[in-house]
Amino acid sequence: MSRICILYTGGTIGMVRTDNGYAPKAGYLEEEMGHLRDLHRPEMPEWDLFEFDPLLDSSNIAYPEWNQMARAIEANYDKYDGFVVLHGTDTMSYSASALSFMLDGLAKPVVFTGAQIPLCEPRSDGKDNLITALLIASQGIANEVSLYFGNRLLRGNRSTKQSADGLIAFASPDYPDLARAGIHIDYRVRSLNANATSTVDLAALRKAAGFGTAGGADAEGSEPETPANGLTVTEIKKSRIGVIKLFPGIQFDLFEPIMTDRLDGLVLETFGAGNIPGYDASLLPLITRAIENGTIVVVCTQCPQGTVTLGTYETGSALLRAGAVSGYNMTTEATVTKLAYLYSLGLPRAEIRRLMEQNLRGELTR
Ligand code: ASP
Repeated sequence: MSRICILYTGGTIGMVRTDNGYAPKAGYLEEEMGHLRDLHRPEMPEWDLFEFDPLLDSSNIAYPEWNQMARAIEANYDKYDGFVVLHGTDTMSYSASALSFMLDGLAKPVVFTGAQIPLCEPRSDGKDNLITALLIASQGIANEVSLYFGNRLLRGNRSTKQSADGLIAFASPDYPDLARAGIHIDYRVRSLNANATSTVDLAALRKAAGFGTAGGADAEGSEPETPANGLTVTEIKKSRIGVIKLFPGIQFDLFEPIMTDRLDGLVLETFGAGNIPGYDASLLPLITRAIENGTIVVVCTQCPQGTVTLGTYETGSALLRAGAVSGYNMTTEATVTKLAYLYSLGLPRAEIRRLMEQNLRGELTR
């Protein structure tokens, strides 16, 4: 019999009606789960629920809560066979992406899920999402950070919220589903195991950067050790990252302060295969200055599918010449959290630039 650790961070699934709209309420989810008979059937794994304090709408979740989630998984890693993270849908893909990078050596399932309709309402999707996520976490097949929603199991760092009100709220536009839940949970075995696809030895990089198991640079400079269970957590530190989505007619000079303000990272959501308009002469000098100031400029595409190939068009080659790096087919969620992760490792900028273009956790295909 497997045991699953459920972390409830907040979000619609356990929200109640208030005068100001839905909001999470401490203790309410546990009460609701006590009434869900299916959760207590013999076919279900054993589970324990840990509620975060405070419970948050996921719009309020950022790197301190990612660190809290990662530390909770680390603290309970040996006691449980898998983890279910109950999370609001709005920023679930960001958290799942962040955790995929932060949990180095992960060899158990970590399944994010939640609901579009709270459990307190009649047509809630929370019950199925929770029950299936628990089963997936107990089966030990998808041993990576994933996201289960609306009958689909997606790689966390390939997922994106696609619908504000539909029950199939998430998509993985440029990577196959990890599993589909019909009558059976049908795993797509060839899509699984994000970590095995990585071309980079992150453990070695962490060591070189002086990182111990506490997730911070080792003050004494002693050799950081990998724990017996193989899991090491990198906490995310505050970093200065910006995202600019291009549109026809964009006036780049309006963004000058952002571009030249020594940001750590700037993600450009460009057209098609990485193209920028050529009619505004102010853009390239700004990008060049940003790069000279130490900002890592990553070029992503606005298209849900397909990859950035800088250099295909004249309009994209200029970015390459200016020193931008390609985000290939990474989602914005994965790009932002990967930048934050690599900065938190304290790596030299040249190394961060190099690694942004490498596959660390199955987040990009080159
Ligand atoms: N605003 C909610 C949240 O992200 C939406 C949801 O959970 O579906 O916490």
